[in-house]
Amino acid sequence: AKHLVWFRGDLRITDNKALFSACTDPEADVLAVFIATPEQWQKHDTSPRQIAFIHKNLIALRESLAQLGIPLVCQTVPNFSASIQWLSDFAQQQQIDALFFNRQYELNEYKRDRQLISQENSFQIHIFDDALLLPPKSVLNQKGEMYQVYTPFRRAFLSQLTASDFHSLQAPTKRANAIILEENEPLFEHDDIEIAACFPVGESAARQKLRQFCREKAENYQIDRDIPAIEGTSLLSPYLAIGVLSPRQCLNRLLVENPNVLDFPDSGAFCWLNELIWREFYYHLLVAFPHLCRDKPFIAWTNYIHWNTSSADLEAWKKGLTGYPIVDAAMRQLNTLGWMHNRLRMITASFLVKDLLIDWRQGEQYFMQQLIDGTLAANNGGWQWSASTGIDASPWFRIFNPTTQGKKFDPQGEFIRHWLPELQAVPNDCIHTPHEWAEKNQVVLAYPTPIVDHKLARLRTLEAFEAGKKES
Ligand code: FAD
Repeated sequence: AKHLVWFRGDLRITDNKALFSACTDPEADVLAVFIATPEQWQKHDTSPRQIAFIHKNLIALRESLAQLGIPLVCQTVPNFSASIQWLSDFAQQQQIDALFFNRQYELNEYKRDRQLISQENSFQIHIFDDALLLPPKSVLNQKGEMYQVYTPFRRAFLSQLTASDFHSLQAPTKRANAIILEENEPLFEHDDIEIAACFPVGESAARQKLRQFCREKAENYQIDRDIPAIEGTSLLSPYLAIGVLSPRQCLNRLLVENPNVLDFPDSGAFCWLNELIWREFYYHLLVAFPHLCRDKPFIAWTNYIHWNTSSADLEAWKKGLTGYPIVDAAMRQLNTLGWMHNRLRMITASFLVKDLLIDWRQGEQYFMQQLIDGTLAANNGGWQWSASTGIDASPWFRIFNPTTQGKKFDPQGEFIRHWLPELQAVPNDCIHTPHEWAEKNQVVLAYPTPIVDHKLARLRTLEAFEAGKKES
C-alpha cells in the first residue's frame, strides 16, 4: 500500500495522529506532502514571521522524516482551492491508496477539506482530531449546545478530559522500505525573516523548552505570568500555533513534573493548564459559531458602534508612539519579536479599542500580520474579549487605565526601559508619566506626549458603546 500524509498545522513527527496512523502498516510506502498557499496566507493576514517560522520548522521536519525513510514533497500553489486540485493530481500520479491528515478547524480550512472529501477520489481518506485535547462539538451543555461562558465549559472540559485517553504517541519507527529523495530542494519562496533566539527551531527544541518550563516555572506561573519584565510564561505559543508541539505533549509533561496538578486548582501548574483550556475554548467557539471567522462580533449590537477612523491614531498605536509607555513598549516588543506578553496583549488591545475607540478588527488584523504565534481562534477570541464584543468577554464599561496597568505590572519600569531606551533617564516613580517629569525638570524627551487623555477617552468610549447599544 502507498500512504500519503498531508502536513498542515502539525509540523512534527512525535504525537502526530495522522502520521502515526499512516505508518502503522509496516509494509506501506509512506510519503509526505506540504502545500504552501501564499495567496491564501495573505488573505488570512498570516505574518511573514510565522511563514518564516513554518519554513524553518519544515526544514527540520523534512530532516526528521528523511531519517524515518519518509520523503517530504513541498509544492506551492496560490490558494486552498488550488491545493485540492494539485493534491488530487499528485495522489493519482503517485498511485496513493490512502491519504492521512489532521483536521484544521477554521472555516476556510474546513471548506477546503469538505471540497476534497466531497469530490470523487482515487484514494481513501483518513482524518484525525489531533490539534486539541478534546475535539470541537464534544464538550456541550445539557441542551447539547456549546457553552457561552468559560467557567462551566472548563468544568465540563476537565471532567471529560480526565476520562479521555490523552496519551502522546511516539514518533513512528524507521520504515523498512524507506524512500529516499535525491536532493533537498528549496521548500517555498518567502521572506527570510530572522526568528528571535527565544524561539529555537524544531520539535526537540520545543520539547526541551516545554520540559524546562514545567520543571522550573510552572509552579510560580500564577504570579510570574503577569509580570512582563520576567520570563514567567512558557513562550510555547509559536510551536502550538503551527503544531510543532501538541497540547497532549504539554499536558503530559505538566503531569510528569506536577503529578497532582488536577487536584490543586489553586496551583501555578493548574493555572497554566487553565490557559491551555482557554486555547481549546476559543477553537470550540469558532466551530460552534462560524461567523466568528467572518469578521463578525459575537455581540451583534456592537456592530452599531461608530468607531474612530483616524489613521494617525492607528499608526501611532502600531508604531508604539502613543505616549503611554506600557502600551508603546508592548507594541515595540510585538514589532521586534512577533510575540507579545499576554498581559500586554490585553492592555494594548484595550487601549486601541477603549482609549482610541478604533474598531477591534483593525487591531486583530495588525496582530495577525505581526505575530509569530497568530491563530484565528486565540487572536479573535482575545480581541473580542478585550473589545467587549465577544463571548464571556470583559464588560464593555470596564476600561483599563493604561497608566495604572503599567504601574501595577511593571512597577519599576524595567520592561518599559528595555523597549523604550528614550526613557532611560526617567526615574522609577515617574516612568509611567514621563512627560510630567520632563516638564517639571525641563528635560526634552525624544518621546511623544500622550495622543489621548485617558479620562476623556474613557467617557467618549462609554458614550459610543451606549449609543451603539441604543441604536441597535
Ligand atoms: P503561556 O502563558 O505559557 O500559555 C500556554 C499556552 O496556552 C500558550 O502558548 C497558548 O497556546 C495558550 N494560551 C495562553 N493564554 C491563552 C489565551 N488567553 N487564549 C488562548 N490560548 C492561550 N494566543 C495565541 O496563541 N495566538 C494568538 O494569535 C493570540 N492572540 C491574542 C490576542 C489578544 C488581544 C489577547 C489578549 C491574547 C492573545 N493570545 C493569543 C493569547 C495569549 O496572549 C498567548 O497565547 C500567550 O501570550 C502566549 O505566550 P506563552 O506561550 O508564553 O503562553
